[in-house]
Order: sequence, then C-alpha cells, then structure tokens
Amino acid sequence: MSGGLAQGEALLYCPGKLVVPDGTVEDSAAEKLNFLACVDALHKKVSARGEAARAAGETLQAEILDAHLEILEDTDSVIDPILAAIESEKKNAALAVQEVFDGIAAAFEALDDAYLRERGADMRDLKIQLLREVMGVQDAAPVRMDTPAVLVARDLTPSETAGLDSNCVLGILCEDGGRTSHTAVLANEMGIPAVMGCKGALQAAASARFVQLDGSSGYACFDPDEASIAAFAQKAARSARDDCEAYRHARTRTADGREKLLYANVASAEECRSACQNGCEGVGLFRSEFLFYQSGEQLPTEEAQYRVYAEAVRNMQGRPIIIRTFDAGGDKKIPALKLEADENPFLGYRAIRICLRERTLFKTQLRALLRAGREGTLRIMFPMIATAAELREAKEVFHEARGELLRENIPIAEHVELGIMIEVPSAVMMSDLLAREVDFFSIGTNDLTQYTLAADRGNKRVANLYSHYDPAVIRMIAHTIESAHKAGIPCGMCGEAAGDASYVPLLLGLGLDEFSVTSRAIPALRAAMARLREETCRELAARVLRLATREEVASVLTGTGED
Ligand code: PEP
Ligand code: MG
Repeated sequence: MSGGLAQGEALLYCPGKLVVPDGTVEDSAAEKLNFLACVDALHKKVSARGEAARAAGETLQAEILDAHLEILEDTDSVIDPILAAIESEKKNAALAVQEVFDGIAAAFEALDDAYLRERGADMRDLKIQLLREVMGVQDAAPVRMDTPAVLVARDLTPSETAGLDSNCVLGILCEDGGRTSHTAVLANEMGIPAVMGCKGALQAAASARFVQLDGSSGYACFDPDEASIAAFAQKAARSARDDCEAYRHARTRTADGREKLLYANVASAEECRSACQNGCEGVGLFRSEFLFYQSGEQLPTEEAQYRVYAEAVRNMQGRPIIIRTFDAGGDKKIPALKLEADENPFLGYRAIRICLRERTLFKTQLRALLRAGREGTLRIMFPMIATAAELREAKEVFHEARGELLRENIPIAEHVELGIMIEVPSAVMMSDLLAREVDFFSIGTNDLTQYTLAADRGNKRVANLYSHYDPAVIRMIAHTIESAHKAGIPCGMCGEAAGDASYVPLLLGLGLDEFSVTSRAIPALRAAMARLREETCRELAARVLRLATREEVASVLTGTGED
C-alpha cells in the first residue's frame, strides 16, 4: 500500500484490451526472427527509460526497469519457451508471448510469498509491452486527467503508474495487486495514497461519484455522506500537519531527487533564529530597510548596522544569508531620509536609486555588511536594478568600501557574493548580460508584477490586473531563469509568488533553484515539493507558457479558475 488519505471524484480507468490473434504461421523461422527483433527493440526502450530514470535520481523506478530487462534477457524461462512454441507448434509470436508470460505470471501468483506473488504483475506489465511490439500497436498513452480525482482501476502496471501526474491523481484504488506490488511501491514514492486488492471497486465506481480511501489501513468508501466527508477532510489535514513536521529539517528534494533550496524572508536578526527553527536552508531576503524604522529620525550608524548584521549571520549557524541593501522609497516611507514626496512613488526615487545618489549612506551599509560577513556566509543583493550602469555603479561603491576597510586594517569577509533582484522589466530584458556580472539573481515578483502590468501593487482599483498568474509575468520569470542558467548562476525568487503552493509546480518546471518564503510555510512547501516530479512540472510549465490569460493559467494551476 501507499499510505495517506485521499478523497475526491472517482475516475474509472479502463484501458482498451489487446486482442491477441490465435492463428498459426507458415514461416516459423521468419516469425522467430521477427520476435527476436521485437525483444531487442523493447530491450533498447526499457534500458533507455532506465537510464533516464537513473539520471533523474528515480532509483526505485530504475531498479524496476532493471528487473524488466532481466526478464527480457532470461533465455531459459522466457525467450526459449517462446521460440519453441513458434517453432514446434507454429504459434504466432503474439500468442506464444501471451501464453508463456501468462504461465510464468500464474506460477508467481500461486506462490505463498507475498513479495514473489506480486512479481506476477511485472510479468503482465512486460507482456503487454512485448505484445505491443510484436503486434505493432502504439505504446499506451499515459493516463491524462484534467482535474484532480481518485483513479479507480482493475490494476495499473508499474509503467502506467510511473506515467501518472502526481499533481492530478489524488489517490489510486485497484481491484487487483497488493501491498508489495511495484504499482503500490511506486505510488508510495510519488506520494500518492493507494489501496490495492479492493474487490468490487470497479463495479462500485461505475455507479458512484465520490470515493475516499486510506492507504495505510486499506479502507475505501464510495459516496460517503457529508458528515463523513468533513470528518475525513479534518483527519487528512491533521495527517498533512504530521507529514509537514517530518519535513521541517529535511533537505529540499523533489520526488525525482532534484535538490532545491527553501530559504526564508526575514526582517530582523531575531527572525533568522525562528527561520532556522522552521527548517530554512538559508535566508533569501533580509529586508535591511527595517533598520531605518527602528532608528527613528536618525540614520543607523555603521556600528549599529554591523551589530545587527553580525548577529543575523551568527543566528544562521552556518547557513547562507542574503542581505538586501536598503530598499527605501516607494511604499516604504522612512522619516530619517526626509524624502520629498514623489508624484509616482513606485516609479520614482527608491531603493538603489537613492543609494547611488546618497553614496555615504550606501557605503556605510556596505562597510557594515563586509565586516559582518566574517561571521558566516553573507551575500549582498541590490534591489530595483533597472540598468547595467546602475549595477556597475553599485559594485564600484562596494569595491570602494572594501578598499577603505582593507586600508584601515579592519577585518572583513574574504569573499562576498553579489546578486541583484530582478523586479523591473528592463532587468528581465537585459538579464542575459546582467547575469554575467553577478553571482546570483533573485526574482522579486511583488514589484515585477506591478511593473510588468503597470498596476500599482497597493491600488485596489487595479487589483484585477495585479497577479503573478498573468502570462506576461510568467514569461518574465521564465526568461530570467533561462538567462541565469545560461550564464551558470543560480536563480531564486523572494517575492510572494515563491510561497504560493499552486504556483510552486510551475516554478519547479521553469527550473527555479531557490524559493525564499515566509518561514512558517517552509515545512509544508518542502513536503509538497517532495511529492512533485520535476519532469512532470516541466511539462506543466511548457503548457502554461502557451496560455494567453491569467484565468487560463489559474485554471491549470489550481484546477478552479481562481487565484
Ligand atoms: C519583491 O518586490 O518581490 C520583493 C521581494 O521586494 P519587496 O516586496 O520588499 O519590494
Ligand atoms: Mg521589491
């Protein structure tokens, strides 16, 4: 079985049956040659799938495919008996394959050992694949579902199970199969609750609309009443919470073994501590402008800043921390800066624009950061970069600060990585060149969304336009990640979109490396990512990139049409 609770619409899965011809053949020599060529062709396909699975870190699937290869290479029990049936009884190859494979499967199924009994299912899986080769029938299309549902089937072969979209399949209910079948084991690895060997499931599903199942106990119920659906949902939520706990301090990995990073967004040294308790692998955005709020009418001194940054870095206990230089202005009004009101604050004097004008203010912060960098792994990120000239100027100030500290014999970090936020469309358009001049990118979707759609992020009257589900925003994100990867640097995201559970599969599919979110969300997001396969997410991303409206995107990502 594969543990976990699932409830939802019941979807019957009844693939078409292959009808094997029962005639004899005239030319048994040619039939034998044709059969051996088919074995060879299938062998090549299975080993290619095995290599792909191994490359994607899908060890279990690779092992199952290795076992299938062994069956195809088994001369004594498989190949020779089929050749003999073609030779002596003039059977056509398909019939010979069917009889020999069914015979071996039945022998397995008659055994006492539950594990060996389940190997019968592998024989039947491979039989179907070999029959398709011999009869020239196309490979079965993977099960496709438009909305999430519980799949009810007589049995699913391991290959059919591996092809399922774990974003859509809430659970699996099979009439046949058992706890140790490869289908159950694969479902478990994919995080899909499954109940196998549920007699009468197909007949019940034919007249029922809704089903609930518990993969751990083997319980299944068709068309439960409202009270039971509500109680089950509560139980599932409790079990999801326990599941999250298990992921709090784990590494972030997709179901197919791709390593990702879950970082936290924080605004103080204290929050770094709680972010670590929530299992962050680093801080992806430390909003340093909060220091201004605390310093009232006075600008924070280098010493005061140094103390805060050093404490923040120490609180990370060796994990990396990205500190963003002051992002003042826009909606962040800072009394100490005594800024004149802008007519268009978001398009006006803010963030790096202020820092490049107020060089002393900027350099003071960079000096404090360089000093604090000795306490651990500190990275510096510049906000609101709109042009390469701004980036170069910011780096110039950084090098000036560094040179000053070295001349003053003040100890500083040996190496500090520099990155930029990508939150202005011009930076996206220039991302291929900007990527060559920095160590990392972090996409700020909060601002990128407002600037892409020309819709103020705080203005309710244009809230209908402001959405990271908008295809234009998604294309901006895709382009940025691609530019970063082409230049060999990692790309993260620290805007709110990175923590939107419905959006995460898309971001995984687009290849995002690091997700920086509010730290409370980390365990649940890590648990969710562990159930997602990057390959499936890539297909989802390709599909989403073809959509024209935000509603279409929302309906694919959330299944509801709402965002
Ligand atoms: C962003 O714009 O996405 C971002 C993270 O920065 P802020 O919300 O602080 O502007
Ligand atoms: Mg921003």
